[in-house]
Amino acid sequence: MTVSAVKIIQPGEIQGMPDDDTPLLVLADAKSLFTDRAARLDQLSVREQGSPWLEFCAQLSRAQAASLNLVDSAPVSEHVVRESFKHHMPPLSISSAQPGPNFTSVLSSICKAIKQVNSSEKVLQAVEGLLKLAPQDQMAQAHAMLEADDAKVTVEYAPFIGAALQVIWTVRARQLESLVSLHHGESGLCPVCGSHPVASTIRMGDRAGHRYLNCSLCNAEWYAPRARCTNCDTPKEVSMFGRTRDDAVQGECCDDCKGYLKLMLQSKDPLIDAMADDLATYSLDVALADEGYMRTCRNLFFIS
Ligand SMILES: [Zn+2]
Ligand SMILES: [Zn+2]
Repeated sequence: MTVSAVKIIQPGEIQGMPDDDTPLLVLADAKSLFTDRAARLDQLSVREQGSPWLEFCAQLSRAQAASLNLVDSAPVSEHVVRESFKHHMPPLSISSAQPGPNFTSVLSSICKAIKQVNSSEKVLQAVEGLLKLAPQDQMAQAHAMLEADDAKVTVEYAPFIGAALQVIWTVRARQLESLVSLHHGESGLCPVCGSHPVASTIRMGDRAGHRYLNCSLCNAEWYAPRARCTNCDTPKEVSMFGRTRDDAVQGECCDDCKGYLKLMLQSKDPLIDAMADDLATYSLDVALADEGYMRTCRNLFFIS
């Protein structure tokens, strides 16, 4: 695949923050999110001629949806949430909040669900290996994943550890629902948990035309002005790179920091899902790397 600049956006075109009642922070409903993501991955797998990788990711998402009832999320203190948002600190920060005692049971549930539906020897070996690990070693892998200390994460275990962490944080994040209006301002990191985005999406429907960053961990979406580098906040222009101008997934590239983030255009594909469509557009990553740009996002189903 080759890409070319399909549009160069000048600083004058950069949109500011909205001054109406457009929501700046939207939390995910975990059940529908993971169920819809699994369906999207099924669809993308078919589109990619039955990709075993995307099929596996669909199975993981279904296993996530099935493990939600194992999360017994302790109530989050309203005072802590208010103070955190006031000081632009993430209330469920990955640097201070723990995966908690439910992590190992969620991980085990996901592993066992995959064992039922996947016959790949490589996948089954990873599942067996993970299930045999002592809980403290599973937790050590989880902490390393949260800290993006990828050298300490076993590559084959990463999708399972990432999936379990997403379940925990997505359920927890939903508890902040009544306080989301306290979030203000711009941020390149998730205002709920402090993680990197997996991608950004320009929405349709009641948020039509607005761009949101999609959290790689808690699945929150937070507002980010369009056409601005979210990695370095340069005032300079960004370029959109894609296979064609009509592709639903483009790379938003910055020549200041040489970083890129994928931009998902829901108007071109209403069922688009930031995480699923990131997984299905690896060829775009390769093409953008050839152009000299680096990924500035994370996808917890793999480590690179
Ligand atoms: Zn988050
Ligand atoms: Zn930049």
